[in-house]
Amino acid sequence: MRILVANDDGYLAPGLAALAAVCREFGEVDVVAPEQNASGTSNALTLQRPLSVHTAPSGFRYVNGTPSDCVHVALTGLLEHRPDLVVSGINNGANMGDDTLYSGTVAAAMEGFLFGIPAIAFSQVERGWSQLDVAAAVAREVIAQALREAPAGPWLLNVNIPNRPDALQRPRRITRLGRRHASEPVIRQVSPRGEPIYWIGPAGDAREAGEGTDFHAAAQGEVSITPLQVDLTDHAGLPQWRRWAGA
Ligand code: MN
Repeated sequence: MRILVANDDGYLAPGLAALAAVCREFGEVDVVAPEQNASGTSNALTLQRPLSVHTAPSGFRYVNGTPSDCVHVALTGLLEHRPDLVVSGINNGANMGDDTLYSGTVAAAMEGFLFGIPAIAFSQVERGWSQLDVAAAVAREVIAQALREAPAGPWLLNVNIPNRPDALQRPRRITRLGRRHASEPVIRQVSPRGEPIYWIGPAGDAREAGEGTDFHAAAQGEVSITPLQVDLTDHAGLPQWRRWAGA
C-alpha cells in the first residue's frame, strides 16, 4: 500500500504531520506539500514559472506552489510508483458546501482523483487544531474502512471532523454538500501610500443546511463524509438549454 499525503496549509502544518503518521500505519508514505500556506487556492496549477522541490528534515517534500501542483508533480515526476491512495489534510478549518470549490485541501485530493486514484480530503470543522489527535484517529478509521470495503474506485471523499474528544464515537454520516449565502463584502482599507486596498470578506452563513447536508452533520457534532464528483454539467438543465439553442 502506497499513500501520497498533501495539504494546503503548508508542509509545517500540524495537521499534515498527524495525517502522515496515521498513513504510515497502512504502508509506504510520501508527503509532498506546499512550502507556504496555500489555503483557498482551489485547483490552481502554476504555469508561469518552474517549481522547486526540497526535502525537509522531517522527510516531507515541499513545493513552492499550490496543493494541485504538489500532487501533480508527485504523480508525474517525483514518485517511482503510483500511489494506491491520495489523502489531503488534515485542514485547519471546515471545507463544506460551496467552500469545497475554493478549497486547496479538496483540490489536492481531487488532483489524485483526476489521475484515477481514490482520494480523501480531511478537515477539522473548527480552526486551531484542538483535538487534532482525535481527528487523526477518525482519519485512520475512515482510511481503514475505505481500503477494506469502499466501492470500486476511483472515488473522492470530503471528510469534515468535529473538534471534540468523542469524535471517534460520533456517527459517520454520508452527506451532500450544503450551500452558503454569498460571502460578506470585501473590507476596504487605505494603504500607507494612500491607495484603497481590499481584503476578501468572510464566507457567508450556511443557507442550505438541512438534514442530509454536511453543514447539518457538523452542527450535530457528527463526522461528515461527502462523496464528490467533478462533472459541473447542469444535467437537469440540458433539455431546456437544448430547446433554447434550437438544437
Ligand atoms: Mn487550509
